[in-house]
Amino acid sequence: MKAKVEVQKLLIDLNAIDQNIRKIDHQKKNHPQLMKITELTARLPSIEASIVENDSQISETKKELSRAEVDVENIAKRVVKDNERLDSGETSAKDLTQIQHEIGTLKRKQKELEEVEISILEKIEDLEHKKSGMQEILTQVKDEISQLNTLIKNDFSKANSEISVFTTERNEVVSKIDEALIELYEKIRLEHGIGAGIFSHGTCSSCQIQISPAEISKINAIDPEEIIRCENCRCILVRN
Ligand SMILES: [Zn+2]
Repeated sequence: MKAKVEVQKLLIDLNAIDQNIRKIDHQKKNHPQLMKITELTARLPSIEASIVENDSQISETKKELSRAEVDVENIAKRVVKDNERLDSGETSAKDLTQIQHEIGTLKRKQKELEEVEISILEKIEDLEHKKSGMQEILTQVKDEISQLNTLIKNDFSKANSEISVFTTERNEVVSKIDEALIELYEKIRLEHGIGAGIFSHGTCSSCQIQISPAEISKINAIDPEEIIRCENCRCILVRN
């Protein structure tokens, strides 16, 4: 393939623009805050799952509380009933002793159940406390993510406008280069990252490999308009 020397030299400008775009892209992809966001976002599901699990424990414990309340209520009703029988004056001496005994047993039972009720209430309080702690963490993590996103958005929009300036510049350069040469340049750039380098002082600027004197004199003998490539990195060698 052949191309005018000044057209070949445009490949060096193109390469410089491409390297700038590549650098900005790399900075975007490796933005330190982006990693932090990924890390924080990965924490969200487990915090949310813990809140759901805690909520179901709260609802179970509340059911437990209702059952205990019903039990306490039933015993209280039985005590009232027994007391009514005592007050009726229609009970025999034998029944009287039995009822008094039953009232004693019921009151002990009522006290026990009330203690159970208190311990369930304490459990609910602990779970509610745990829930608000987890919700606070969730809010903090979400806030941090949103702050980082705002920060990143600013950096990205700055980077994108830089890329857009370089892209305009790139299009101008591309328009001045033969299509077949651009195709070759793009193919090499995709495969090796760098599409063209300067051949100067016996060195390829892309891979920095020093070319042997025998090779240099061979290169110098080639028609300057002939497209040559670096034997080492395969980029288009533009002779200086
Ligand atoms: Zn090279």
